[in-house]
Amino acid sequence: MAVCCEDNEHDPNAKSVEEALDIILAASEPVVESEWLCLDNALDRVLARDVLATQPIPAWPNSAMDGYALRSSDGDSPRRIIGRAFAGRPFLGQVGPGEAVRIMTGAVVPADCDSVIPQEQCAANDDILQLHAPVRPGANIRGIGEDLAAGELALPAGTLLRPSQLGVLASLGRSEVEVFRRLRVAFFSTGDELQPLGRPLQAGEIYDSNRHSLLALLRRLGVEAIDFGRIDDDPDRIAATLQQAAKVADLVLTSGGVSVGDADYVAELLQNLGSVQFWKMNMKPGRPLAYGRIGTADFFGLPGNPVSTIVTFYQFVAPALRKRMGCRAPWVAPRLRLPCATALRKKPGRTDFQRGRLVASAEGLQVAPVKAQSSHILTGMAQAECFMVLPAEAGDLPAGTLVEVQLLEGLV
Ligand code: AMP
Ligand code: MG
Repeated sequence: MAVCCEDNEHDPNAKSVEEALDIILAASEPVVESEWLCLDNALDRVLARDVLATQPIPAWPNSAMDGYALRSSDGDSPRRIIGRAFAGRPFLGQVGPGEAVRIMTGAVVPADCDSVIPQEQCAANDDILQLHAPVRPGANIRGIGEDLAAGELALPAGTLLRPSQLGVLASLGRSEVEVFRRLRVAFFSTGDELQPLGRPLQAGEIYDSNRHSLLALLRRLGVEAIDFGRIDDDPDRIAATLQQAAKVADLVLTSGGVSVGDADYVAELLQNLGSVQFWKMNMKPGRPLAYGRIGTADFFGLPGNPVSTIVTFYQFVAPALRKRMGCRAPWVAPRLRLPCATALRKKPGRTDFQRGRLVASAEGLQVAPVKAQSSHILTGMAQAECFMVLPAEAGDLPAGTLVEVQLLEGLV
């Protein structure tokens, strides 16, 4: 790895964050195969076809309030209440001049009525209704097709199905939905020092936390995660596992062993078994990040430092997965601009993804760095609510500088 001077960390052989993302997205082909699923099993899946409304929603004019349905042409004069309309139990009679119908929210508005007066704006005594507010035509009536007209595009192909989108499909009566097949993502950790959870540690050993963070990140994205476990720093074993993983998965992820230490084999193996697009990034944390292909699988060799693993996943793997899953753009979490509550330390040369928290202040929302910014301190990541994205060329920044912020929940 190129040596960086004290006050500029730029490495001419490393890809910039923007360049790397362009390369990754250009190479990420959306899946084409689809399957039909029950609506309730389709959370976090991606719609494979446009869904049009087969009927208008609402299908009938209905009341937005509990109150009385009446004819606005009768003006403000008292009305005679001649019946009741409930949601699902319409009033079937006719409503003549000077008449009104007691109506509940969601009940069909009788054809002769063109206004609903809320019950708080009138008083009923026996069957006589006195109005305390003017009657406006169309008031408190939800019109036919206000939500969706018949034939209108309800959800386009490529929509990520979250709870509200599933609600829209249900409102159309769709019990099944065609979604893209799930992506298969194989992943494993490399490192002699890594131990499975629950086993006592000997000197120098640590628990394999990355595999658990990665599994959770993959689950959040709704892909099929295939865990190949932890593999020793043994090039033959890593090579065999890479090949096995690339056969069963659309995308392979590894953590660790991607740098230039004596036990770092991943980038070299990628070169031998497939092709390398790049393996160094001008970012902090996460400088070593190998990207390429093995067989038909995309490959990301993520750095082993636990914060770097999560940051690089969020910045590169998640957008690639979103695109490959068939999601419509944008694949990258939007950035907000917020003033920083404290001064920020940074050396020019690399894009820095500092971990931050949102702070409510008298001047409005601000962002502050978490205390521990080192790439091996996972609790710093765990305290964070956002990344503060500091551009490569920036140096130290005074308090109050507007910085770009990506919310963690915005993507994963
Ligand atoms: P490496 O990228 O293999 O050079 O690892 C960089 C640092 O991350 C080292 O301190 C490793 O012990 C640590 N590390 C690597 N893999 C993992 C893992 N799966 N879980 C936790 N820490 C890891
Ligand atoms: Mg290692």
